[in-house]
Amino acid sequence: MSRVYNFCSGPAALPEAVLKKAQAEMLDWHGAGVSVMEMSHRSDEFMSILASAKARLKRLLDINDDYEVLFVQGGASTLFAQIPANLANGYDSACFLDTGAWSTKAIKEAKRYTNVKVVGSSKEQNYTTVPEFSTLELDESAAYLHICPNETIGGVEFADLPETTLPIVADLSSTILSRKIDVSKYGVIYAGAQKNVGPAGVVICIIRKDLLARSSDELPSIWNFANLAANDSMINTPPTFAIYLADLVFEWLEAQGGVEAIEAVNIRKAKALYDFIDSSDFYSNPVEPAYRSRMNVPFILADESLESLFLQESEAAGLRTLAGHRSVGGMRASIYNAMPMEGIEALIDFMRGFEQRHG
Ligand code: PMP
Repeated sequence: MSRVYNFCSGPAALPEAVLKKAQAEMLDWHGAGVSVMEMSHRSDEFMSILASAKARLKRLLDINDDYEVLFVQGGASTLFAQIPANLANGYDSACFLDTGAWSTKAIKEAKRYTNVKVVGSSKEQNYTTVPEFSTLELDESAAYLHICPNETIGGVEFADLPETTLPIVADLSSTILSRKIDVSKYGVIYAGAQKNVGPAGVVICIIRKDLLARSSDELPSIWNFANLAANDSMINTPPTFAIYLADLVFEWLEAQGGVEAIEAVNIRKAKALYDFIDSSDFYSNPVEPAYRSRMNVPFILADESLESLFLQESEAAGLRTLAGHRSVGGMRASIYNAMPMEGIEALIDFMRGFEQRHG
């Protein structure tokens, strides 16, 4: 068996220690005689896993009791619709900041439920920057402001939040747990698991409890946030194995020293890679330096005709899935929490060698 460095944007690399623990517990979880996949979601065993995952996440992100932690199904894309369906009820509109492909998708789905006001967009800059917050045309009577602080495809990230009285709804799918955040500044935080949390199949949704009152009884019960909260995310069978692995990832992250410690590693990883790209005329990254993502690093080759050779040779060198998103092309290295510094060093070594051979 040989594991490679996996730069996939999602489903992404998981910590090896987590996979090994899941493997060791696969046939017989803690003496239950069955795997987690085979036990009732209402069993004491699974309830303890769910409670543990929730408690660890609350500790890792310092989530206070004003917030409910939900485990939702259907992927982050489902929440693009589910959030306006729940939160825009009783309001005329919702505000959206457009910083890239994922903001755009969230806007498209929200339009089915409410009037969307795009308060700022970096589309004209080809999504290589973030609009100045002072220029945003916020409507303070809207239901909420939606933002995507890490655009996975464009590799654009911002940490500051706009000044507003509106609840801020943030798609943190590709940045959750990679850097410190102040949860109390948000109305809703949501994140598909398959990047920094665990396998696909579950979405973390952290919602301020007062916002639950907006959910109408007319919503499908499985989509109703208030109903999900009242039933501890167990209206029906939750994705039990995904939640179990998320709990193991949270446990691993605690052992690394928590979010602050992993953030320091993430800063070093991203800096090393961007510094290398910037030092070369062969590779380039188009994003304004202040908004470069620590998690997703897109880059292009000066000579596009070398792209397929780059991918072929990098795969052969044990560096997997470096192709950019199908909509933009080029290359992209996704370097979430589970990617060790050694993976970045191996990538830089490969890129340097490729440039020497073909530059
Ligand atoms: N938002 C962001 C920022 C993402 O990166 C992704 C997935 N790459 C999604 C939403 C959609 O997630 P899902 O595939 O779980 O619906």
